[in-house]
Amino acid sequence: MLNQPSGVQFLLDHNAAQSADFTNPKEVERRQSYVHQHPTSFHVLKCMDGRCDMAQVTETPAGTITPWRNLGGMFHLGWPTFQQQLLRALKVAKQEEMPVAIIVTYHFSASQPHLGCKGWGYDTEAAKAYTQKFQAKATTFFNNGVPVIVMGLETDRQALLVEGWNGETLDIRESLGLSEQELATKLTTMFPGCDPRVLRDLVPLLAGNSRHVTEVQNQQLTPEDVDHQEWTLAIGRGFDWLHLYNVAIIIGPFDVDISKPLRIGAGLLAENVTSGRVDPNKHGLVVMSASPTWRRQGTTDWSGAETKAAFFAAKTMRLIQEEYKEIAEYAYPLVGVVDMHTRLFHRQEFDSEADQL
Ligand SMILES: [Zn+2]
Repeated sequence: MLNQPSGVQFLLDHNAAQSADFTNPKEVERRQSYVHQHPTSFHVLKCMDGRCDMAQVTETPAGTITPWRNLGGMFHLGWPTFQQQLLRALKVAKQEEMPVAIIVTYHFSASQPHLGCKGWGYDTEAAKAYTQKFQAKATTFFNNGVPVIVMGLETDRQALLVEGWNGETLDIRESLGLSEQELATKLTTMFPGCDPRVLRDLVPLLAGNSRHVTEVQNQQLTPEDVDHQEWTLAIGRGFDWLHLYNVAIIIGPFDVDISKPLRIGAGLLAENVTSGRVDPNKHGLVVMSASPTWRRQGTTDWSGAETKAAFFAAKTMRLIQEEYKEIAEYAYPLVGVVDMHTRLFHRQEFDSEADQL
């Protein structure tokens, strides 16, 4: 294995800076005041793709949206870990009397089909149909108790498309001039019967996306900028501090066939290198495995998180070494636990045998 590449230090420094920001009293106050004004707990199901970051595209404070990541944004309510964690998260929100909503997303590129979703073989219609099917199933699963909203993300301009329950679509690219009041009125028509608190809290997300789309427009990104450039493969949860466009492919620990998203993720990294979009000598290729916990060091929860992170790191490194030999020499593991109170990543030593008994 190579010496520690600069990408590892970059991620550690970025995490430390984000954690300092997250715990900064001013930022804590800003977040608390945001949550006080907009208490809805949004759970966003999305693709592992490094260009999809809901908090970033909506310009909302870190920690106010809960991300759930998998290949192609595909989830199944029968996957035990996913079901258990989602139900627990929704229960906690409800106990705190926060309204809850699930946003299920697909993504595509308006300029070139091959910049769309690899997980769906670049078939946007199939991805969209899946999210609609998931929405119908989840609505039945929760017995209409949790609003489920479908959104598309056009990654060239990082714009959201909100799919109404009435069949209408709100495309932010075409609605940049709408005021918050106009957005609120539109949402009420699009989501008949939806908890009005949820719709009220959706408004700042869409207003934030309008601002973001305008900024992206002004940056005049090139076709290369909007193509895959990730050099980190992240596995696990607790990455909401990452907030960097096109740096990391993030795979949640949910799919019962976890090798499938890991293979697609490793394949994307390999393609980034062989196509020349990513120079592996620049940052290295970082395999970052993390597991979050709200408990302190020394508790069983903490050691459980360490064990999960170690397991996924070893499994992913093994898969890359065995099946993606073209990038194996550049792959470097970074393993640890994220303290959810501070979002600080506590690094632990990599154990290449941690996926074995
Ligand atoms: Zn995707």
